[in-house]
Amino acid sequence: MKRAILLSIALLAFSLAEGAFAATISVMPEKPIQGDPLMIRVEGLSATTTVKSISFDGKALGIVSYTAPTAFYGIDINKKVGTYVVRATLSDGTAIEEEVKVGARRKAVAPLGIPEKLGGNTATSAAKLVDTLAIENASLLGLRTGGHAFWTKPFRYPVSDPIVTDEYGYSRKTVGQTITHKGTDFRAKEGTPILAMNRGVVRVAREGRNYGKTVVIDHGLGLQTFYMHLSKIKVNVGELVLPGQAIGLSGMTGYAESPHLHLTVRINDISVDPVTFLGFFR
Ligand SMILES: [Zn+2]
Repeated sequence: MKRAILLSIALLAFSLAEGAFAATISVMPEKPIQGDPLMIRVEGLSATTTVKSISFDGKALGIVSYTAPTAFYGIDINKKVGTYVVRATLSDGTAIEEEVKVGARRKAVAPLGIPEKLGGNTATSAAKLVDTLAIENASLLGLRTGGHAFWTKPFRYPVSDPIVTDEYGYSRKTVGQTITHKGTDFRAKEGTPILAMNRGVVRVAREGRNYGKTVVIDHGLGLQTFYMHLSKIKVNVGELVLPGQAIGLSGMTGYAESPHLHLTVRINDISVDPVTFLGFFR
């Protein structure tokens, strides 16, 4: 009898320890820098344990079930470098933590050319570009987002032959103004099919002064992809699109000197490096 009790206590202690120590938080990329997205995953859960919450620096994040309970966080390009805590609470009452060190992004500077159709390289057209960009950016913030993830498959590139022509994160300086490039440009000759990076709902399908013909797809839980400078839009607001579906054709509408695709990936309104984001799904 005594031995049986001791054995069950030992088993209980073992199972508690297993619940508390088996689960771990994994964070990608390994060495994140300003402007990077984070993919936070809780791995090694026992069959009966679920994840109740995941937070970054105290901010609660949406959880999507993608091979493991997963959350995304967008590090602002100007976020203070330093160490932040990622925390997950589990259904068995335990909490696990992981420290994430955010490093500095080296921000290259390049001259900004303003196309003739937007006034050329003058102080007046530079000021107008900055003013109208602020208005356009504001209209693309706080867009509606689904309360659950609309996707289950990996994210994919928005063009079938992805060649990056302009990276995320460098600044373009013009007459008295600096504009940070918060997306990635891909080579795309006029009329190239632009593909939805994943399943989602179209929230924006319209033409703006600087971004040109623009489509925004909401993938749920604050994760959104933006496709700009299109020559043609093939979807409507509210439409459900599938991964790889052609949502439009590339072009050079708005502030573009030649045909290309400008892609922006946003996590809760923070524009992150799209190529780092796509690296999570290789
Ligand atoms: Zn761009």
